Amino acid sequence: MQTQILERMESDVRTYSRSFPVVFTKAKNARLTDEEGREYIDFLAGAGTLNYGHNNPKIKQALLDYLAEDNIIHGLDFFTAAKRRYLQALDEIILKPRGLDYKVQFPGPTGTNAVEAAIRLARNAKQRHNIVTFTNGFHGVTMGALATTGNRKFREATGGVPTVGGSFMPYDGYLGDGTDTLDYFEKLLSDKSGGLDVPAGVIVETVQGEGGINACGLDWLKRLEQICRAHDILLIIDDIQAGCGRTGKFFSFEHAGVVPDIVTNSKSLSGLGLPFSQVLMRPELDVWKPGQYNGTFRGFALAFTTAAAAIENYWSDDSFAQEVQRKGEVVSERFAKIAAWISEQGIEASERGRGLMRGIDVGSGEIADKITHQAFENGLVIETSGQDGEVVKCLCPLTISDEDLQKGLDILEQSAKQALS
Ligand code: PLP
Repeated sequence: MQTQILERMESDVRTYSRSFPVVFTKAKNARLTDEEGREYIDFLAGAGTLNYGHNNPKIKQALLDYLAEDNIIHGLDFFTAAKRRYLQALDEIILKPRGLDYKVQFPGPTGTNAVEAAIRLARNAKQRHNIVTFTNGFHGVTMGALATTGNRKFREATGGVPTVGGSFMPYDGYLGDGTDTLDYFEKLLSDKSGGLDVPAGVIVETVQGEGGINACGLDWLKRLEQICRAHDILLIIDDIQAGCGRTGKFFSFEHAGVVPDIVTNSKSLSGLGLPFSQVLMRPELDVWKPGQYNGTFRGFALAFTTAAAAIENYWSDDSFAQEVQRKGEVVSERFAKIAAWISEQGIEASERGRGLMRGIDVGSGEIADKITHQAFENGLVIETSGQDGEVVKCLCPLTISDEDLQKGLDILEQSAKQALS
C-alpha cells in the first residue's frame, strides 16, 4: 500500500493512522475496506461520529437528492430551506416529545467549537468567568475548551500559555466507591473561603468518552443538577460523544431525567460524518447580540440536510433506541466475559459504560495496545481511551448488524487471548 506521501507530508500530529496504518478506500455500515480489498469491522466509527454507520443509505440519499437539485450548499448563516427542515425535525421529533424547549446556536462545525460557544455563553449569561469541569473530562483542544479538558498531554501543548477559566472537581467514582465526590463540590460552594470562584457553569459528560468510558451514576447527575440550581450555576452537558443515541437515548442525560441549561452536540449529529455542531440553550439564556459570536461555516446546508434525515429516519419512534439498548446489553455481557478471562490471567480488568458506549479497563495502556493491535491484525478497528489509554473502547455504529457485532466481539475475544496468553 502506498503510504509514503501520506507519511511524508502530513504533520506528526496525526494519530489514528498510526494505529491503523493502511489506506482505507470504502466503507459501508460497520465495515471498512482498505486499498488491498481487506475488510475490517469498525468498532471505532469515527470516534463516535458514525452512529448511523458508514454511508447510511437513507441519509446519503437525502444528500444526493439535495445535491442533484442545485440547492444551496454554503449559506453563511442565511435562512435556508435546509436549515428550516433541520430545525423542524429537531423541534418536532427530538425536543417537543421530550418536553425540552431550547434555542439553537450553530457555531463552527466541530465539537470544540460548540464547547467554546457554550462556555462563552454561560460566562456572558452569568457574568462570571469560572467554569467547573471534572477530572478526566475531555471537551476539545481550543483554548477555552482546553481549560476544561483534564489530560496533560493536551494541556501542555500550548507553548506555555496557561489554560485559564476552568476549575476541576472529582468526577463520580474518582475517589473510589463509597465517596460521593459532589460532597466536595458542594462544600466548596458553600464555603466562602474554600477558594472556588462561584462558577458560571458546570460542564460535564454523562459518560466520559476520551477519559476512559466512565459513566457517572444517574443519582450523581441528578444531584449535580440540584446543586447547580441551588447555587444559580448553569448545567452544561457535553453530549458530543455520548449523544445522538450512543447511550440508548437520543440525549445521554435523559436516563437521569435532568434538564440541562445548555447542551453541546457534534460528532454523529449530521448522521453521515459531515462536520456539524450545535449548542442548545434555554431560551432565556440567549444573551448573544447579533454577530457577537460568528464563523464562516455556521450554515453547512449539506449537514442540515443529512442531520434532518437522520432524525426523521431514526427518531420518529422508540424502536431505534430500544435496539441500541439491546445491542448494548450484548456488548456488556461479552465485555464482562472478556474482562473476567483477562482477570484470570492475573491482570485486573473490568467492563463499564452505558448503551453502546462501552469499555474494558485493563489497567495499562501497554496491555490495551497489545489487544487492539492484535485485533487490527485480525480485522477489527478498535481504539483505546483513558489517561494512559488503558481502556479498550467500543463505539461501533449503532446500526451494526447482529452478525457483524458478534463477529467483532469474537475477534476482540480471540485477540485478547492471543495477545495475553
Ligand atoms: N467533547 C467531547 C465529549 C468529545 O468527546 C470531543 C471529541 O472527542 C470533543 C468535545 C471535541 O470535539 P472535536 O474533536 O470535534 O473538536
